[in-house]
Formats: sequence, C-alpha cells, structure tokens
Amino acid sequence: MSPYDNLWQTILKDLERLYSEETYTELFSPITSTYKYQNGLITMVVANEFLKNRINKLYIGKINELASVYSEHPVRFKFITSDEVKPEDSAPERKISIDYRQENLNSTYTFDSFVVGKSNMFAFRMAMKVADQPGAVANPFYIFGDVGLGKTHLMQAIGNYILDNDVEKRILYVKADNFIEDFVSLLSRNNKTDEFNNKYRDIDVLLVDDIQIMANASKTQMEFFKLFDYLYLNNKQIVITSDKPASQLTNIMPRLTTRFEAGLSVDIEVPDLEHRISILKRKLLTFESSQVVPDEILSFIASQFTANIREMEGALIRLINYAQTFNLDITMDVVDDALSSILKTRRKTDQLNENNYDKIQSVVADYFNISLQDLIGKKRHAKYALPRHIAMYLIKLKYNLAYKTIGSLFSDRDHSTVLAACEKVEKDMKLDKNLKFAIDSILKKLDSSSTK
Ligand code: ADP
Ligand code: MG
Repeated sequence: MSPYDNLWQTILKDLERLYSEETYTELFSPITSTYKYQNGLITMVVANEFLKNRINKLYIGKINELASVYSEHPVRFKFITSDEVKPEDSAPERKISIDYRQENLNSTYTFDSFVVGKSNMFAFRMAMKVADQPGAVANPFYIFGDVGLGKTHLMQAIGNYILDNDVEKRILYVKADNFIEDFVSLLSRNNKTDEFNNKYRDIDVLLVDDIQIMANASKTQMEFFKLFDYLYLNNKQIVITSDKPASQLTNIMPRLTTRFEAGLSVDIEVPDLEHRISILKRKLLTFESSQVVPDEILSFIASQFTANIREMEGALIRLINYAQTFNLDITMDVVDDALSSILKTRRKTDQLNENNYDKIQSVVADYFNISLQDLIGKKRHAKYALPRHIAMYLIKLKYNLAYKTIGSLFSDRDHSTVLAACEKVEKDMKLDKNLKFAIDSILKKLDSSSTK
C-alpha cells in the first residue's frame, strides 16, 4: 500500500462529512486507492469522463486543500479516466522522494482559483496561453501591478498548469530576494558555480517574483542576466513579476530592462466591487469551515478593502476564525466585533502612514509564499509554523503587545505558545544565518511599505 492511500482514506473521511451522502457514494467512495505518485502529483483513476469532470470542476479545490492539511509535504491530486492511463504507466511508480520544484509552488494558486474580471482579464488570458505553450508565446512574460493584486497567484498558476500537464517539467519559482541570497552565498563559498548552475539552469521554466527587489544589487543582476540569456536562448519560458512596468524599474541595468520589454507585458489593476465580491465568494469555497457568510456581509467587506486583495482576504479569514472560535452565526454585529480593530487601525494608519499587525502578517505570509489563512491557522507543518513564529516575534518586536494579545491574532493561541515562539526565534536567529537574513528582509519590506 502506498502512503498516499492512507492520505486518501483520511481525506475520504472528511469528504463524507462535508458532502451529501449521494455525492459521496457516487463520486468518492468508489475510489479506493491512489494510482500513482510522481513529483508531488497523486493521480487517481475514476470510472468515466463524467465523474472525472465533476470532480475536477467542483471538488478538486477542496480535495487539494485537505491534502495540504494532512500531508507532510505539498501534494496535489489529479483525476483521470482509465483511457488516459499511458501504457508505460501500467506498473504504477510510487516514488516517495519529493521534487523540490513541486515543493516551491503553492498548489492552491491555480487558474481555476483565480477569479477573472476586467482588471485582470488580459493578464489571465495571456498567462493561459503562456502556460499552454511555454517558451513559444511570449518570452519573457512580464506581469506587473500593485501589491496584493494577484501577480504571484497568476505566476504560480502558470507553473501549476504546466506541471499538471507534464509532471516531468522542471519549474523553478524564486523570489528575487532568494535569488540574491543564493548568489551571495555562492560568492562566499569560493564560486561553487556548479551547484548554482544546477539549480538555475537545469530547468524548463523560471518564475522570478518581485524583480524590483534586485534594484541596486548589480552583481546579482549580472548573474541574472547571464542566466536569462542562457534560458532564453534555449527556449525556456521565463516569467517575471514586478510592482512596475519594466521601463520604470529603477536601478536595474538597462540590458535587463530592455530584455524584459522585448517580451510581453501585462498589468493587473485594482478589481471593481463586483469582482472583489466574486473573489471573496471563491475564497469561501476553499475554507475548511462551512460557515455561511451572508451576501451583504461579503459586500461590506469588499467595500472596505478596495486596493489589496490579500488584505480583503485576511479580513474574511479573521471574521470566520472569530465566528468559529466563539461559535457564532455571522451577522453585522459579529463583523463589527471581529473586524473593528482592523478597520480602526486601517483608518488610523491611513492617517499616520504607519505599519500595523496585519501588515506584518501579510508581509510574512507573502515572503514565505504561504496564504494568510495558513499563517494564522492551525496547521503545524514547519512550512507554516516557522513563518507563524517569525510573525509573532516581529509583532512583539515592533509593537511590544502582550503575548496573549498576539495569540489572539493567531487563531486564539495562548500566552505560553507565543512566548515560546518569540524566544525560539530570538535564539535561533543568532545561530542561523538564513533565518537572520529572512527576518532582515522582512523588516526591510515593512519599512519600505510604510514609507510609500
Ligand atoms: P501579489 O503577488 O500581486 O502581491 P498575490 O498573488 O500574492 O498578490 O495575491 C494576494 C492574495 O489575493 C492571494 O491570496 C491570492 O490568491 C488572492 N488573489 C489575488 N487576485 C485574485 C483573483 N483574481 N482571484 C482569486 N484570488 C486572488
Ligand atoms: Mg507577490
């Protein structure tokens, strides 16, 4: 039996609880075991096209969400019919080693979970085309827009889509800060170029997030330029995101910006109210809770958070956690209680132009490429726990709140949990250079976003 069979059995139990008996017996209970595991993708065989389409359309998001709760490392499910089983596949391969390329993508960032509207339609369509024919449509593919509007999501959707179609594809997602970090540590180890090149050159698709961070790092830019040319000449797809158009990047060498401009640029703008409401509705589907949120409350939240989807999503998560913790139905009064501090700090910070706790949480979540929900939530994998501890530590550092108050910002954890987390981060930072680097980078980001 494969370990993924156990995972599937655990997920089945939840599906049974979540959906009607009819749905469960028709769709899920007949699938008794996993078929194949490769590179983070668990393939399941279902009886016919109809079942496959229903699962892939309506339930795959929930199943992957549950998988992320129960699996030690990131995995995704894929449902196919027996007609799609390739002959060479018939002896199911059950490789357990996880591929780092799969590991660096967030499996919930898919095209399917990306809500399309006027503000992102063109970017979305082009991203689909790029994902369909990597290297052939637009190279590089350059996505720009303000913070929190879906650039990382769309970029990773390209990666996830390509991997879903071909698990062999090597997809490297890297934040520009991590690229700098890798390059700096390359220099400090007397040019161990091989390791660096293996990581960055032996790939099919390179996704570089937030390229503006490379500003001023001229040696890193040179190295990136070499890599860019190498991949480009080998027809490998490059996708780049940035907070501004390539022509307006400052302190990035012209030979890079002209390369960026030679590809296809798309921008993502602020979504309108209707669009924001649809995004909230889509997010609700992926939450574990079955809390009902009335439409007028979704509209209210959407009306309060106009310029940053991540913050809007954060408010929804907070509301749902609050209602769950105190076992309440969601009404406008509950919204007032759950969100008053955010809405108040938002008003205040609009005036003072200062950071707030929310911002720390969202910057940390973004830095580690996990969702805000996972940062605040209950999952205990190191992947979530470390960023969570760092966020607690930073809130303590910057605002010196009581440990209990900090705990209340993280799904009501208690005083001693937060205290232990803060102490551990403080201690580990002295020994672990990478941790120190991460925290410094996050602090820099917080400072730069507060002066905007
Ligand atoms: P950026 O990289 O531009 O700062 P992200 O891609 O990290 O923004 O998006 C922030 C959050 O908003 C993520 O949780 C993402 O899933 C969500 N989001 C953004 N745009 C959309 C969209 N069109 N549909 C659904 N979710 C979205
Ligand atoms: Mg981003």
